[in-house]
Amino acid sequence: MPINLTINGNTIQAREGETVLQAARANGVHIPTLCYHADLSPVGACRLCVVEVEKMRGLIAACTLPVAEGMVVQTHTPKIVEERKFVLEMLLTDHPNDCMICEADGGCELQDAVYEYQVAWSDHKGKRHSYPVGADQNPFVFTDFNKCILCTRCVRACAEIQGRNVWGVANRGFNDKIVAGADVSMLEAGCEQCGACAAYCPTGSLTDKPSRGKGRAHQFSKVRTTCVYCGVGCNFDFNVRDGKIVKVTSARDAYVNGMALCVKGRYGYEFIHHPDRLTKPLIKKDGKFVESSWDEALDLVAEKLAQHRGDEFAFLASAKATNEENYLFQKFTRAVMGTNSVDHCARL
Ligand code: SF4
Ligand code: SF4
Ligand code: SF4
Repeated sequence: MPINLTINGNTIQAREGETVLQAARANGVHIPTLCYHADLSPVGACRLCVVEVEKMRGLIAACTLPVAEGMVVQTHTPKIVEERKFVLEMLLTDHPNDCMICEADGGCELQDAVYEYQVAWSDHKGKRHSYPVGADQNPFVFTDFNKCILCTRCVRACAEIQGRNVWGVANRGFNDKIVAGADVSMLEAGCEQCGACAAYCPTGSLTDKPSRGKGRAHQFSKVRTTCVYCGVGCNFDFNVRDGKIVKVTSARDAYVNGMALCVKGRYGYEFIHHPDRLTKPLIKKDGKFVESSWDEALDLVAEKLAQHRGDEFAFLASAKATNEENYLFQKFTRAVMGTNSVDHCARL
């Protein structure tokens, strides 16, 4: 049964179990968020998505408020706007605000919200955190907790997407901070270096180490592709600048994997432009590999294959090839080579 409610004077229909935030967004009403991410369980921590609801006291976080029949919601009254500005002002009192050299610039959700609500950078002279920048020595995730807004998206991404529970929140009040394990290094806390925490972090607090300094979001063109490392076939976007792949970003609309990737898919792209990479076929001549043309190499393979038939030949397929390629290989093995000796590395 659809649920009827009113948002900003417009009657809309929502599904039972949806939150006010989901219903609003599904109907084109923009409500700002920081701690919320559609892939993660909502926690109502940042208070940026507050709304007013008739017959309910105070301002309520829309990301954790279930829709109800007859609900009357306002999303942008002066009181709400004032509250959102206050939340952002408080965040900026303890933030480096060095966007010009921040890795997240142009892709930072805090920056977007501050821009949307036109909040001035804080000249707050009180206490600020001063964590060592880049302190964690893991090879793939760069940490700068001075930029952390304690949204806990990293905590939830690691627990809910990757199932590792590396991150947690330690201490209370001003001393609240994100820690790996019992405040140890990420690797000591069991990190698998999947980079999900960096992918879900809305600020420059957790970023991808290998692509630091290699360009801004607007300087990259994105090319959707399929990972070559295993048969899961995750999709992601290569970020290309000046003809070079400089970063991988995962995407919610990737069919197989959504935002999730393993360490190989997210960070194992540097082989592509590596100078040691083979770019031409090699043929062994007199015990030595010699560079050849593709025509020469393919002719040689065809000639050798023609010397064998039936069970003299066996084919071992690879998970690094696509389903379509593997289909063609088995078809070639059965129809052309005349044998059913086909197997796949995934069974080994
Ligand atoms: S995290 Fe965002 S708001 Fe903070 S310095 Fe970086 S770009 Fe600016
Ligand atoms: S890189 Fe992956 S496993 Fe490691 S802390 Fe981040 S989300 Fe968890
Ligand atoms: S490190 Fe990033 S994702 Fe984690 S709590 Fe801080 S701002 Fe949020």
